[in-house]
Amino acid sequence: MTRTISTPAYAANSPTMPLAPFTIERREPEANEVLMDVLFCGVCHSDLHQARDEWGAGIFPMVPGHEIVGKVTQVGSGVTNWKVGDTVGVGCLVGSCQHCEACDSGEEQFCKSSRGTYNSYEKDGKTPTYGGYSTRLTVDENFLVRIPASIPLDRAAPLLCAGITTYSPLRHFGVKAGDSVAIVGLGGLGHMGVKLAKAMGAKVTVLSHSPGKREDALRLGADDFVVTKDPDAFTQNADRFSFILDTVSAQHDYNAYLGLLKRDGTMVLVGAPPEPTPVGAFPLIMGRRRLAGSPIGGIRETQEMLDFCAEHGVASDIELIPIQQINEAYERMLKNDVRYRFVIDLASLASQ
Ligand code: NAP
Ligand code: ZN
Repeated sequence: MTRTISTPAYAANSPTMPLAPFTIERREPEANEVLMDVLFCGVCHSDLHQARDEWGAGIFPMVPGHEIVGKVTQVGSGVTNWKVGDTVGVGCLVGSCQHCEACDSGEEQFCKSSRGTYNSYEKDGKTPTYGGYSTRLTVDENFLVRIPASIPLDRAAPLLCAGITTYSPLRHFGVKAGDSVAIVGLGGLGHMGVKLAKAMGAKVTVLSHSPGKREDALRLGADDFVVTKDPDAFTQNADRFSFILDTVSAQHDYNAYLGLLKRDGTMVLVGAPPEPTPVGAFPLIMGRRRLAGSPIGGIRETQEMLDFCAEHGVASDIELIPIQQINEAYERMLKNDVRYRFVIDLASLASQ
């Protein structure tokens, strides 16, 4: 029988309860698995959506966390790519079938049996997976990525979700130097979108409902900043952008933003508000515009993104917190009071 290691964590016991200390069991690595110490874990708005069961079908108790970096402490007998001491990252996925068309093309996020880092099930289909709000993680060797030495570890953690979720659509939809790109929402994903689009050479505009973020947006690399609450914002910027990346976590009118696209422009939703929003035909028909969505990214592309970040000096702007402040961090995230990603220092849990 596989031995397990008792591991401290923080969990939401139910959608209406604050996160609290919780103990989980991590298994010793099987042949193709790796055991790692979690050093830092980013706090994604998806953690909050799921811990409060806003998307439905949540598995409780839930240990969130899918922006994980740390060090390998043990490897299974068949592991050749990783060794003890390696600095590694884990994002939103910890497993997939490894033989379907999606897996073969390196897009495990589309595998019908991909397994989430938390709020999902292990291979046996019944043991819940638990995420990075914990001090250890056992993971399939194919779902690790290497953190380049030049990126500070705490600032690397958010790249594992916020980074790849914004990088992947920018690449997939072919954003290139000189393109006029808008990023909607300057939060965890949005600030990474600004940095990445800028590093790809685009002309970047932030569309924000928070006037107080103007200076930050420009400091992060944006060329322009538009306050979407301004009455003229949508008429003055009509037909302006070839690509819009929408990272907003709450319900808003997509039709208004579609009107900001040039002819043949594309707007991609990565923000995932729980409520559906009607989309009219006319903003799409007039201008032959496209509306698309995009989930995270594959493992190969996540490594590519990390290497791109190392090459271009890109990392997340973070506020480091002890895990004991996680509930306050969720409340602050809801008030848009985060600059621009909370990252949990797991030393605060290990030392409890
Ligand atoms: P976040 O840090 O809370 O940022 C969300 C931003 O949305 C805020 O900073 C704010 O920007 C804007 N916003 C919030 N409420 C708004 C409102 N009522 N009206 C207009 N704008 C509002 O969240 P995040 O971690 O970046 O995540 C953003 C969304 O992406 C979440 O829904 C998350 O679940 C989703 N997500 C999706 C994927 C995927 O694979 N597609 C992956 C990760 C996360 P301003 O103040 O600048 O307006
Ligand atoms: Zn996330």
